[in-house]
Amino acid sequence: IKRIEIMGVPIDAVDMTEAEAHASAFFEQESLRVIYTPNTEIVMAAQQDKILLDAIKAADLVIPDGIGLIYASRILKKGLKERVTGVDLMGRILSYCNQQEKSIYILGGKPGVAQQACANIRARFPHLKIAGFRNGYFQEYETDQIIKEVNQSCADILFVGLGAPKQEKWIYQHRKALETKIAMGVGGGVDIWAG
Ligand code: UDP
Repeated sequence: IKRIEIMGVPIDAVDMTEAEAHASAFFEQESLRVIYTPNTEIVMAAQQDKILLDAIKAADLVIPDGIGLIYASRILKKGLKERVTGVDLMGRILSYCNQQEKSIYILGGKPGVAQQACANIRARFPHLKIAGFRNGYFQEYETDQIIKEVNQSCADILFVGLGAPKQEKWIYQHRKALETKIAMGVGGGVDIWAG
């Protein structure tokens, strides 16, 4: 992966096909791989948020989910290819999970939203497995239990939709405890799949 920097924030110069290929390969790895989908706002936020910046630096795939990043890359001649949105990549990953019969866990959204998203995803991709879901409104003390539930579900991928930068920090903070193959920050992606 060719990794460039925009204002000190690493971004991978991948197009959608490459992003999908990397994500698919992550399912075959032994330990957790992390995918983030920053837009211009997140790059700006990372200027003043050391934990967010550290989180992005530690990620395995960072796709340019913002046309502003592509414009900045053109001006600075950094070599980003095209905008790759988190929602689109999530769709490609779900399709891959359907083909390979992988299992997913969705964490995020208001009560009922992750469940509805799972129902819609199941209808569209009948061969993937719904390992579990949970709303994204919980207290700090509940986190250990949530991670335990995710791990016990044996999900291959955890989609985390807590909004940015909360989801990036949450994944970063708990990356050593998570036993899924992939954790991906999806922002409002859970709401979109819920329709
Ligand atoms: N969200 C959540 N827990 C929180 C805060 C937000 O689950 O503590 C969810 C919210 O319900 C929505 C998603 O995170 O589904 C994205 O929120 P927002 O639109 O604020 O973030 P963005 O899409 O800009 O990253």
